[in-house]
Amino acid sequence: MRKLLFILPIWLCLVIISPSYAHAIKIVVDAGHGGSDPGAIGINGLNEKDITLDIALKLQDQLVKRDYEVVLSRTDDRFISLQDRVDYTNKQSADLFISIHGNSYPSSQAKGTLVLYYDNQFPQSSYPASAQMESLTPISKAFAQQVLDAFINKLHTENQDIVPSSVYVVRNGTIPSVLIETAFLSNPEDAALLADPIVRSQMAEAIADGIQAFRPLPAKLAFTDINGHWAKDAILSLNEKGIVTGENHLYYPDRSLSRAELLTLLDRIHPFESLSEGYEKAVFSDLNEQHWAYPTFEKAIAAGYIRGYDDGSIKPDQAVSRGEAAALIDQFVEKTEPAPSTDGAAPQIDEGITDVPAAFTDVSADSWYAPAINHLRSLGILTGKTPDLFAPNKTITRAEIAALLDRWTDKNR
Ligand SMILES: [Zn+2]
Repeated sequence: MRKLLFILPIWLCLVIISPSYAHAIKIVVDAGHGGSDPGAIGINGLNEKDITLDIALKLQDQLVKRDYEVVLSRTDDRFISLQDRVDYTNKQSADLFISIHGNSYPSSQAKGTLVLYYDNQFPQSSYPASAQMESLTPISKAFAQQVLDAFINKLHTENQDIVPSSVYVVRNGTIPSVLIETAFLSNPEDAALLADPIVRSQMAEAIADGIQAFRPLPAKLAFTDINGHWAKDAILSLNEKGIVTGENHLYYPDRSLSRAELLTLLDRIHPFESLSEGYEKAVFSDLNEQHWAYPTFEKAIAAGYIRGYDDGSIKPDQAVSRGEAAALIDQFVEKTEPAPSTDGAAPQIDEGITDVPAAFTDVSADSWYAPAINHLRSLGILTGKTPDLFAPNKTITRAEIAALLDRWTDKNR
């Protein structure tokens, strides 16, 4: 026994930091009874097996909607032995087990909700628990409490508390397990609740709330290809602001950015004016309505943010150079800067900028993008490749644009 006590806390730690929690959380939902076993028969004629299946299916919907992985021990009206339910659960490498039931009692006065779990403080020698369930007592107990609290909170049924129990399915498994007795089929008011499909939906929602409170999903990893990248924080921050998204959890930080992509990002930060009624369609040889960014281009062209080339093209998918990006972004930054005061007072000095750095040696003062680069740099939004070099003709990467837009949007907060 001494040895067991020594091992136990380490085992619990392993449960708590189990790597499976970094992935989807998998729940086994068990609809009580079924097939030749109707369970309790309600005072209103309801079969327990029917309401348990309905709540289980609704609970599955609720949990899947919340991004949990769910499996059901039965999805139709069939008999499954208790041992088969436990065997099935053990094969799932799931995280939690919950069995759905309706209660029954000889007196029709009894009503309310209770949640059963196995408790090693109340062992029953003729109903021994699995070694795992012995150790899992505190976890199953906390799980039971969360489910009960959420249920009472939503349904306002009578609180019959969490109850240590040696029923088969909460005693023989290998993962935290509970059994909810939703309401009493033998009580007229409770049976009326169970007969109402809307109330059964609320019950499923409440149970899902309890599961979520007990085992919230880890925050979704937005992108899997930015770990260790210098722009990781900026990319995540922009993602949180709803400005950048990736594809299949990939951001492609070192890819160049197209004109279409840049306009889309700017439209998310400062939505372009919508087209006026008499708007005349601009025609470019390489932009048609099938292009994914066509509506954004239309607005950007109408507002004068972007122009085509002399050959009649507008090159929506061409990579944007760093100089071009600066010039485009600066148009928006200027728009959002506070207007100069008109009451004759001296303009406010931004104390954050003590000395404006010398111009980049590779940005000639008479180039078309120089004013934009110098302006953005003076605001602390734009940085060079080095303190001296900006590389205006190099294409801008998705990481670089994220860093720039993150600094700008932080300034605007
Ligand atoms: Zn039952």
